[in-house]
Amino acid sequence: MIERELNFEGNRPLLYLVATPIGNLSEFTSRAIEILKETDYVAAEDTRHSGELLARFGINKPFISCHEHNEEEAGEKIVNLLLSGKKVAYMSDAGYPVISDPGERLAKKCIERGIKVSTLSGPNAALNALTSSGLDSRHFYFEGFLPSKRSERKKELQSLKKREETIIFYESPHRIMDTLEDMFEALGDRKAVIARELTKSHEEFIRGTLGEFVTLDPETLRGEMVIVIEGGIVEEEKLSDEKIISLIEEKIKEGKRAKEAVAEVAKENGVPKNAVYSLYLANKD
Ligand code: SAM
Repeated sequence: MIERELNFEGNRPLLYLVATPIGNLSEFTSRAIEILKETDYVAAEDTRHSGELLARFGINKPFISCHEHNEEEAGEKIVNLLLSGKKVAYMSDAGYPVISDPGERLAKKCIERGIKVSTLSGPNAALNALTSSGLDSRHFYFEGFLPSKRSERKKELQSLKKREETIIFYESPHRIMDTLEDMFEALGDRKAVIARELTKSHEEFIRGTLGEFVTLDPETLRGEMVIVIEGGIVEEEKLSDEKIISLIEEKIKEGKRAKEAVAEVAKENGVPKNAVYSLYLANKD
């Protein structure tokens, strides 16, 4: 059943997901500040952290703690407040809630209970890093954090090897060197960018290759970081002669005439028709 209602019309309650600064406080939007001033409750991943942020903008609201470990129960409380007519907004520590942060289960719960959800746009570390990376941004893949266990991290990196899109990772400073080594080992010497301390006064873009990055001094890789890596070049596998013949035979078995089967195999596999036909003739018994 399709559900449809404009977000800012009608009487159904609405949860705001609020994107917050990733470093530079002037990136807190005036829309977010206005809406937060009107809400009855602010639900937050870390109430102390968000309390300090809101205090800077003269906002003082009752907080509800809602983080990775209590999202289910806190979500229930938030849903009940919204259903009773209260206005509630949710924020994580930085950037967009939900993106490598809590909020997804809360949003899902609200949607299931007929509550509308609207996101107040703002800063996001992944997109900020990608846009300044100079790497192909037409297609990109957001990986976020890799597993912290090394064996799982290596396995996950192997699974990304064939991706042709630019890949975006989040990483913490205490794991960065191990992660860069694993990336170099799994993905090879690709072009990459480390975007550090985005929007802050010490913002830095380190541009090079993964092979060069493993030689960096860890002391210089402090703070928050996004790693953007160019996609892989996937070489098309050349079809073997045996495979081409078996594809033709399959089509003939399905009832197709030989010429038709040859034409289809050539077209479907991007191989010249003459070459496929010669191969067929040479192997016909
Ligand atoms: N929800 C956030 C977003 O929308 O970007 C991401 C939160 S995730 C828990 C935190 C990670 O985001 C950090 O470990 C780092 O990889 C990245 N990050 C956050 N702020 C950053 C900044 N100012 N500069 C670089 N990376 C940042």
